[in-house]
Amino acid sequence: MATPILTIVVPCYNEEEVLPETVFRLSGVIDALITDQLVASTSTMLLVDDGSKDATWSLIERFHASNTFVTGLKLARNAGHQSALLSGLMHAKSYSDCVVSIDADLQDDTDVIREFVLKFREGFDIVYGIRQDRSADTFFKRATAQGFYKLMTSLGVKIHYNHADFRLMSKRTLDNLEKFQEVNLFLRGMVPLLGFPSTQVYYTRKERFAGESKYPLRKMLAFAFDGITSFSVTPIRFVTLMGFVLFLLSVVAALYAIVGKLLGANVTGWTSLVLSVWFIGGVQLLALGLIGEYIGKIYKEVKQRPLFVIEKVLKGSAQDAQEQA
Ligand code: UDP
Ligand code: MG
Repeated sequence: MATPILTIVVPCYNEEEVLPETVFRLSGVIDALITDQLVASTSTMLLVDDGSKDATWSLIERFHASNTFVTGLKLARNAGHQSALLSGLMHAKSYSDCVVSIDADLQDDTDVIREFVLKFREGFDIVYGIRQDRSADTFFKRATAQGFYKLMTSLGVKIHYNHADFRLMSKRTLDNLEKFQEVNLFLRGMVPLLGFPSTQVYYTRKERFAGESKYPLRKMLAFAFDGITSFSVTPIRFVTLMGFVLFLLSVVAALYAIVGKLLGANVTGWTSLVLSVWFIGGVQLLALGLIGEYIGKIYKEVKQRPLFVIEKVLKGSAQDAQEQA
């Protein structure tokens, strides 16, 4: 096979503290791969600035001027991790044979990118990076992540345990991913749906090199909830089941009340009445909210608003060559 053009896509949101080190390490990885003729000499990294408020973009411009491995994409506003990543993937696929996605914070091991490329050269379209050792993450993060994977699997969603968005995808994988046209993005659930030959590479997850997590608890829970409701209607079925169980309970309660009345018992029941009114009211609101969540999703999908707006592009030689061709 001809040496493939590799692009490493890195979504960056307020990452000025880590970016110099990230660029340094990824340049080393690309350089070594080129030297060993595993990837083409026009291989690059694509730094996607997701509407950062700090100096991230000016840093990217500076690196682009001095380092031929650095290309950039500036989004006009903050689109969020998944959309920023997608913008980079869709941009890179037009001039790349394979694309690796990695976070900017160096939590994922840049050295295994070489293994990704070797697997790609063996013929795999998708290579998943799997966190073997997550001891660097907090206990809370590990526990919630574990619960989330379990829940997703039990809802019938095919996702890989301990895999986030560190993976390699071939051009044809990305061409097919583009057809999904989903506004509610959950890439780690979408990619396995493609079904192309895939394999896994294990690595040790490290601590963030510098800066703070851009996923506070609130965003993390929203992301998990989004993942569930984008991939499964089981929660709605659960509402139906809950309604049925409550109906059965009410039949029992009615029988009890009727029999009591016939036997002449003095039915007072203020407490049970008030409690059941509150209880049923709560259950109904919960069910409505859940259904509303799905309707909100449909609303977003129907509008088909663009997920990101590209403001500026800093090109590399692979892009220039592709445009001239
Ligand atoms: N990120 C982004 N847009 C956002 C939030 C995060 O592009 O709105 C990027 C961020 O710069 C990083 C990656 O997404 O490269 C993952 O974020 P982070 O490392 O903070 O998440 P965590 O590892 O803590 O879950
Ligand atoms: Mg991180």
